[in-house]
Amino acid sequence: MKAAVFHKMKDIQVETVEDPKIEDARDCILRVTSTAICGSDLHIYNGMVPQARSMVMGHEFMGIVEEVGPGIQNLKVGDRVVVPFPISCGTCHFCNMNLPTHCENSNPEHYGPEGEIVMAKGAGAGIFGYTDIYGGYNGGQAEYVRVPYADYGPRKVPDNLTDEQVLFLTDIFPTGWAGVDWADVKGGETVVVWGCGPVGIMAMKSAWIRGAKRVIGVDIQPYRLAIARKSANAETINAADVDAVEVIRDMTGGYGADVCIDAVGMEADRTVLEKALNVVQMEKGSMKALEKCMDAVRRGGVVSVLGVYGSPYNNFPLYKWFDKGLILRGGQAWVHNYIDHLISLVQEGKVVLEDIITHTVPLSEASRMYDIFNNKEDNCLKVVLKP
Ligand code: NAD
Ligand code: ZN
Ligand code: ZN
Repeated sequence: MKAAVFHKMKDIQVETVEDPKIEDARDCILRVTSTAICGSDLHIYNGMVPQARSMVMGHEFMGIVEEVGPGIQNLKVGDRVVVPFPISCGTCHFCNMNLPTHCENSNPEHYGPEGEIVMAKGAGAGIFGYTDIYGGYNGGQAEYVRVPYADYGPRKVPDNLTDEQVLFLTDIFPTGWAGVDWADVKGGETVVVWGCGPVGIMAMKSAWIRGAKRVIGVDIQPYRLAIARKSANAETINAADVDAVEVIRDMTGGYGADVCIDAVGMEADRTVLEKALNVVQMEKGSMKALEKCMDAVRRGGVVSVLGVYGSPYNNFPLYKWFDKGLILRGGQAWVHNYIDHLISLVQEGKVVLEDIITHTVPLSEASRMYDIFNNKEDNCLKVVLKP
């Protein structure tokens, strides 16, 4: 089959690899019909999350069931499903606590309590196409993919919905939703989202659904701010032009936002000086976006961290967390816990997800599209690949 294979930093090629096979009774094989490139894939592409061996990329995908293992009762050949990006068994200590991204069975080689994502130990649950540290699974930017625990992850999708309408239930819609859910948004809040990438925009859409009074998006790319206004009806701030924290305080009577969501992560834009400082402090990228969120949130407010961080950060503003009495939550999103409710929101027409797609291309163009998405060329926001 054809697949987008990661070889080394900035080197992803579409080539022929072995077809996946059923390896466990609870597996299924999916024929992928649509798959997307994620900002998280860029961390691998840019060498921020290391991977030594070649691996098929892709954790956002959906398709048609091609084959099922003998243990699978809930799916049959021909079913059309979307698949949550975390790989979770559904039966272990953490899955039973409704913490699927901490599943202790899906990443046997590198799982552990340490929480390391750049060392070879201590990461959480397996993730499709997301390095050996996250289980070494081949991903879904391919014609076929093996899906473990197929009786727990994949969800059937209604026939009347197109791939584009439901594809983002694999990751970015539940992830955006998690940012709002972790902040316990109940109605009436001002929610600021740092980062108007696909995840940030999904967080903004989720904030409205949960009853936010005001939704504000911050970015440094004018075209992405324009999409946030159009697709998520957000007010926007260009942090390249103004001090966004000051603007947010002005907009909120001096208090700051009730909730700030970091949808940027460690690959925030930086000056040369900031980069040098991060190198001296042995930091992977920068925690600049998180610091801005902690500044822009009101006293006693919540900061939800969706953006990925991959190392210790020595100047973490612990004193601000303490003095402002902030609640800080983050992590890989609990897709399994949210997905059924979110499918019903799509089905009822309460949210539109596909309006963030800027590029739909054959899988064969994956290499070029990684480059375009990474460099924010051609007004690229979200790429869908068709195997
Ligand atoms: P993306 O790279 O497309 O978006 C990041 C956005 O941040 C870009 O629009 C960029 O212009 C903006 N940005 C960069 N520096 C900035 C700064 N200093 N101030 C304001 N904005 C700035 O990626 P995405 O797909 O939207 O993902 C966003 C983050 O979420 C990534 O770190 C990704 O790995 C992470 N993610 C986490 C989960 C999870 O489960 N927690 C799931 C999916 C993605
Ligand atoms: Zn993703
Ligand atoms: Zn488990």
